Amino acid sequence: MSQTVDTAAMPADPVGSDGASARVASWLSEFEAALADRDVERAAGMFATTCFWRDLVAFTWNIRTVEGREGVADMLGQTLERVAPHGFHVTEPPEQADGVASAWIEFETAVGRGRGHLRLVDEGAWTLLTTLYELKGHEEPRGQARPRGAEHGVNRERETWLDRREREAAELGYETQPYVLVIGGGQGGIALGARLRQLGVPTIIADKHSRPGDQWRGRYKSLCLHDPVWYDHLPYIKFPENWPVFSPKDKIADWLESYTRVMELNYWTNTEAKSATYDADAGEWTVTVEREGHPVVLRPKQLVLATGMSGKPNVPDLPGQDVFRGDQHHSSAHPGPDAYAGKKCVVVGSNNSAFDICGALWENGADVTMVQRTSTHIVRSDTLMDIGLGALYSEEAVAGGMTTEKADMVFASLPYRIMHEFQIPLYDQMRERDKDFYERLEASGFDHDWGDDGSGLFMKYLRRGSGYYIDVGAADLVADGNVTLAKGQVDHLTEDAVVLADGTELPADLVVYATGYGSMNGWAADLISQEVADTVGKCWGLGSDTTKDPGPWEGEQRNMWKPTQQEGLWFHGGNLHQSRHYSLYLALQLKARAEGIPTPVYGLQEVHHTA
Ligand SMILES: Cc1cc2nc3c(=O)[nH]c(=O)nc-3n(C[C@H](O)[C@H](O)[C@H](O)COP(=O)(O)OP(=O)(O)OC[C@H]3O[C@@H](n4cnc5c(N)ncnc54)[C@H](O)[C@@H]3O)c2cc1C
Repeated sequence: MSQTVDTAAMPADPVGSDGASARVASWLSEFEAALADRDVERAAGMFATTCFWRDLVAFTWNIRTVEGREGVADMLGQTLERVAPHGFHVTEPPEQADGVASAWIEFETAVGRGRGHLRLVDEGAWTLLTTLYELKGHEEPRGQARPRGAEHGVNRERETWLDRREREAAELGYETQPYVLVIGGGQGGIALGARLRQLGVPTIIADKHSRPGDQWRGRYKSLCLHDPVWYDHLPYIKFPENWPVFSPKDKIADWLESYTRVMELNYWTNTEAKSATYDADAGEWTVTVEREGHPVVLRPKQLVLATGMSGKPNVPDLPGQDVFRGDQHHSSAHPGPDAYAGKKCVVVGSNNSAFDICGALWENGADVTMVQRTSTHIVRSDTLMDIGLGALYSEEAVAGGMTTEKADMVFASLPYRIMHEFQIPLYDQMRERDKDFYERLEASGFDHDWGDDGSGLFMKYLRRGSGYYIDVGAADLVADGNVTLAKGQVDHLTEDAVVLADGTELPADLVVYATGYGSMNGWAADLISQEVADTVGKCWGLGSDTTKDPGPWEGEQRNMWKPTQQEGLWFHGGNLHQSRHYSLYLALQLKARAEGIPTPVYGLQEVHHTA
């Protein structure tokens, strides 16, 4: 769902300073010299004692943050010779605030070109972000290198753009094999597919739905994105300036559908992946899909599961579900409120989906009860937009010259280890701004929290992907008692009621289980095997040792957009911002492999949890 970051509280960036340019220039040239000499200790010594180097593919062929001089030395020790980094330079005048100089940088490696961001304190580099944005010799055909489209002249053998496109679509998967098979054609699969298409990597995106965008169309009727438009752009094509701030679900669905066409994706609809096995000797998957009811066997080298983080419903198994006479379904299957006017509806759960569904049922005249089992963090949407996202993703940010790409890089430049420290003051501000609201909510008996360490919604999203509601109005229904609040665990169902562990009986014509979603490696268990699912382990989370995100510390989100313990198996997903930004790094990792560029992975993540 949504993710927000403190931008206001980030050090440095906005205030210019005479000294910053000289400081950064001198650091960069010394750093480059140390790297050129392959002097790992000298380079590592240029970092502050407390430091973080986040690398997105450029040095590590991985998504990886190392910490402390030792971490830097280890990473450089294993990668420097091969990466041969050089050409570090700033791309705009560095800035300085509170003693921290910050700079946007570019550099090259032996095989690619990179961009990054540096924050310097007196002791040396405090944070360094390095990212790969293109591979030399495999640049995307854009700008001066864009395709001509027309072929002037006369040619009796002429194959038009359409002929070529149709031939490719007809042959791929039958006469020719895709290098990459992406299973799941939601926004994640689509964004990745678009990047791979531009990189010339033969790719099929397979989805069981009959139209791209059906992932959104099928969700409950009242759903609008919780994140604002500036945060949601897809790669290459931005939403127009008159697009709604919070996109209604069917509108985003149509956008995704048209995007697959104009980006010329090989998108197989009505195609369900049934099974996949990996032949390590051949370095190839055998994937059986059913396309329009017919089995097709595909043999991709790389398999990407973009099957959705909010796609594998957690449905509680409760005694009495078989005798309950009303309707019952998971929130993902909730059709909307129309059939339930005047009915008694019990919604189990108290996060985003639960609130959205309660709100829509109440608006349609249902008698609604929400069952809260554990505490929830709530932030009002307007407040979140102003305090959490505004500096990077808003009309004001755009007017101030902020581009989506730059905003994404600012976002990426703050290491996860310290991100909560920048979030906490923001959530303190939000608490103060909406004090009356929180007092009313808590007076209603609602169990509210601010995250284990007060760091709020964004950290909850990164750590566990659940446990919050971005309030677009429904919280008031609970606070004011229009939606009845019941608290506790559901014990069982009877023919016409939900019964809680304390014996409270909640009469029900409808039960909605807004009980969330399972880890994405569950998809690997379904499709490949439990053994492979356990081999790759849990997806998502940082190892923060907070609720639902057990340690040890991982530094990056588990298994997302990076190599896993199963060769040739990748996970892609997240919200629109993450799909947009991280699809680049996943696409480059896949392209490099397609081209036979060596991709030794530094710091392949260990598996500490299977689900
Ligand atoms: C109520 C709700 C509100 C949300 N609001 C936002 C928001 O405001 N902003 C935001 O960015 N995100 C939001 N999200 C999260 C949203 O689910 C994800 O951002 C988005 O759907 C993820 O896209 P995806 O492509 O990763 O997965 P999905 O959209 O879930 O797509 C996965 C696809 O995989 C397909 N699939 C699965 N198994 C197979 C198989 N075996 N064979 C073929 N196809 C298969 C499915 O058919 C599906 O189309 C919300 C989610 C929910 C539930």
